[in-house]
Amino acid sequence: MRLLLASRNPGKLRELAGLLPGIKLIPWPTEAPEIPEEGAFFRDNAAHKAAFARSWWQSHGSRSVDAVLADDSGLCVDALWGGPGVLSARFASDLPNDEKNRALLGMLQPGAPRTARFVCVLALAPIAESGLRFFEACVEGSLASEPRGGCGFGYDPIFLPDGFHQTFGELPDEVKARLSHRAKAARALLAALAAEH
Ligand code: IMP
Repeated sequence: MRLLLASRNPGKLRELAGLLPGIKLIPWPTEAPEIPEEGAFFRDNAAHKAAFARSWWQSHGSRSVDAVLADDSGLCVDALWGGPGVLSARFASDLPNDEKNRALLGMLQPGAPRTARFVCVLALAPIAESGLRFFEACVEGSLASEPRGGCGFGYDPIFLPDGFHQTFGELPDEVKARLSHRAKAARALLAALAAEH
């Protein structure tokens, strides 16, 4: 099976390639337009990205793919009313990643609850049909006091998954590949595809 990934995020591409064995993932081409992100919810954004990418590919795609896969994800911090949430990619996007993580931690008042979760919505858009299917998951955790570790990407160095004293930035990739929001959503997608064949 060949899936066009509606994203240029190298962290997502690397993780999804490992999480979806047997599926050939084709990255969003460099000559293709930026995929707009305008929704207020992860599911809206995932739906828009998948539908936009499918429509672009139907008229410009250079090779055959079975479906488009979109991933909308982000970090929701309880003390920030769920933010940055759907705005995770846009929060302090002018800063280098480490500074962005420190800026986020700096927004928490002393003594505020540090609970947070990563959320992922995968949208699958078959290329020859008009429907969309969604696979959603989250991983609960809390925010570290400072960024730690060089694994993963984005907010991984500040996220402590429940049950661990290390951040996703410190834990081996295999642990994130078992526990993460994206890992759980990818397993649900694989199960749905397996049930069909
Ligand atoms: P979007 O889905 O393209 O809007 O981007 C999601 C943003 O959320 C990414 O750019 C990261 O900043 C963050 N994010 C999503 N998933 C992860 C993850 O697994 N680890 C760390 N950061 C993540």
